[in-house]
Amino acid sequence: MKPAGEKAVRRVRCSGPESVIRADIRAIHAYPVQHAEGLVKLDAMENPYPLPGWLREQIGQVARDAALNRYPDPQAPELKARLREVMQIPAGCDILLGNGSDEIISMAIHAVAAPGAVVMSPTPTFVMYGMSSVIAKANFVGVSIEPDFSLDVGRMAAAIEEHAPSVVFISYPNNPTGNLFADEAIVRVIEQAPGLVVIDEAYQTFARRSFMPRLVEFPNLMVMRTVSKLGLAGLRLGYAAAGPEWIREIDKVRGPYNVGELTQKVAGKILEHHRVLEDQALAVVEERGRLERALARLEGVRPYPSEANFILARVPNALGVFEGLKKRGILIRNLHGTHPLLEQCVRFTVGTPAENDAALKALRATLEGL
Ligand code: PMP
Repeated sequence: MKPAGEKAVRRVRCSGPESVIRADIRAIHAYPVQHAEGLVKLDAMENPYPLPGWLREQIGQVARDAALNRYPDPQAPELKARLREVMQIPAGCDILLGNGSDEIISMAIHAVAAPGAVVMSPTPTFVMYGMSSVIAKANFVGVSIEPDFSLDVGRMAAAIEEHAPSVVFISYPNNPTGNLFADEAIVRVIEQAPGLVVIDEAYQTFARRSFMPRLVEFPNLMVMRTVSKLGLAGLRLGYAAAGPEWIREIDKVRGPYNVGELTQKVAGKILEHHRVLEDQALAVVEERGRLERALARLEGVRPYPSEANFILARVPNALGVFEGLKKRGILIRNLHGTHPLLEQCVRFTVGTPAENDAALKALRATLEGL
């Protein structure tokens, strides 16, 4: 016997996703992740160094003991306490955790996305501010930075006046240009903005500058970070600190168990030994200097100074360089065509000395053949 109702179900004719998926969703592309198998991966700002064996052993024990039959604690109090101490989150601020800082960006935008609400950012910048805005049906307004990649204070002020953004995202250092905007310029934005200002410090470890201590000065400031660039991209953990009144509201948008038990426990364990990650970051910063100097010596290549773990460089032919490097086993990011200020630009994530040497060798060979 067929279950009751089956006939009725069969009669329904679905004409496919076009009939139900929003046109603005159908018009965008998923966040681009390049295939990297067999390639030296210098495209995604990962830390190139694995964790030491003794720490992996400890992580193994943590994983073994984790109660995976239970939901994780949605408030993750132990991990938050550890983050508060290690990252020097000021007393009086609360913490929001995300499945990567990508999720925090999405939560902040969804929380403000009333019809007509504006999300603003200096551009070019991290693409997810714009993408999450589209998904949440918020209006994204990008405000172009200066050709030297500094914040255009006048243009920013005018845009804030005109659009009254509900939230402004400032990547500090900025991805993909690599520079830190001037603190005074950022403070002007925070003071002028009628809503929340999120300082995205994804690359803070490599810059050693932060607005974290200044959270207490500005009631509309949120400082967001991630453990991804620090060496834990696979864990998916982002965090944001702000006044409790902001965190309380944005936390309502969060999926109930967004940070899993393994992530909570493993991140907590690794943060007990955060010096390991900081030492790796120091090695990356040293290599950044060497890579920048080596790039600057190549004819036609103009690397821009970076405070992050990547270097933006203008080259004679970005697509040719990207493809030439890929052919030689090196994966970087071609940014040409993504913003007028990034014409003929590519981005190198700083790798190990051997990876950087391989990239430089491949670049020299590519440039000769262009
Ligand atoms: N912010 C910035 C500026 C980024 O460049 C990135 C990753 N490329 C992120 C946030 C997201 O990082 P995650 O989701 O891994 O924490």
